[in-house]
Amino acid sequence: MMISRKHDPLDYVRPNIRALKPYSTARDEFKGGDISIWLDANESPYPDTGLNRYPDPRHRRLKQAIGRLKGVAPDCVFIGGAGSDEAIDLVYRIFCVPGRDNVVAAAPTYGVYAVAADINDVEYREVAPDTDLTYTAADLLAATDSLTKVIWICSPDNPTGISLPLSEIEIVAREFDGIVAVDEAYIDFSTQPSALTLLARYPNLIVLQTFSKARGMASLRIGMAFATPSIAAIFANVKYPYNINGPTQERLLAMIDRDITAQVAEIREQREWLRGSLDALSCVEKVYPSDANFLLVKFDDADKVYDYLVSQGILVRNRNRVAHCRGCLRITVGTPDENHALVNALKRIL
Ligand SMILES: *Cc1c(COP(=O)(O)O)cnc(C)c1O
Repeated sequence: MMISRKHDPLDYVRPNIRALKPYSTARDEFKGGDISIWLDANESPYPDTGLNRYPDPRHRRLKQAIGRLKGVAPDCVFIGGAGSDEAIDLVYRIFCVPGRDNVVAAAPTYGVYAVAADINDVEYREVAPDTDLTYTAADLLAATDSLTKVIWICSPDNPTGISLPLSEIEIVAREFDGIVAVDEAYIDFSTQPSALTLLARYPNLIVLQTFSKARGMASLRIGMAFATPSIAAIFANVKYPYNINGPTQERLLAMIDRDITAQVAEIREQREWLRGSLDALSCVEKVYPSDANFLLVKFDDADKVYDYLVSQGILVRNRNRVAHCRGCLRITVGTPDENHALVNALKRIL
């Protein structure tokens, strides 16, 4: 059952986007039929590169496959060819009027939301977290005003690794008269159910996921947004026409049913081993709880530890100069061998 809302989600769309007459490619206009001679798109007729034909601009087979994988109808799926970063930028371009509207997000979080806000000339409102780096639905809602178009929720969060409970996400979706964008880049590692389970009830919800993390295909640059069919259709109209190239579509289709259960289980088990091992080190002050494939770790001297690890050929992410993350490094969980090498190196630091 759809919850009745003050607005239809299409009312949140920028007027110029609502009025948009989208570009229609040669392959968009072709409605299907038994074609053997393709003279519609000014392509080279010579197949020697194996790349001479334009790919499907509507990603029909991919949407079917992703819909099946996620248990979502294909017309609720948008696929980005620059990862979920493409979907993040589209959220601004579709819903926010530059120079006027604002968005709200808790800090610390994924840096792309703020950069994309700056690029689109949209005010970015940060909600300060508690001392344990958590926040609530009420904190987010209190930061909104009549010009807030989007609330970002990164769950599990990057860089903290902490999830916002699904019950809190539901409160935001229910109470906020605007778009709630939930970034679930790390959901495969989480013990929490996905916000996809709320999609049918809250038409103002957009859920972002990616093939870059647990699914092991960061190099392909495939991100997804899940939304009502009307919002997914607007994403499709605003994106660049051929945003996912042909070889990438083929590679993804070939690997989409790859079973990641064992890899995810090992990463989670290794994460807990790493937590215990790091906690026991004298240079470590605190390890934050994590629902993802990384740990945010507070050190007595983060810059020194960072430089030392680089000298040992180990690269981690220095978050020492990020607000609310002073003293912290973000460490990705690797293979068991890599994690042991990290801990052994840290035991040698003086
Ligand atoms: C890695 C990451 C993404 C980006 O994923 P791509 O699909 O590779 O662009 C999105 N959101 C968060 C929170 C991330 O950490």
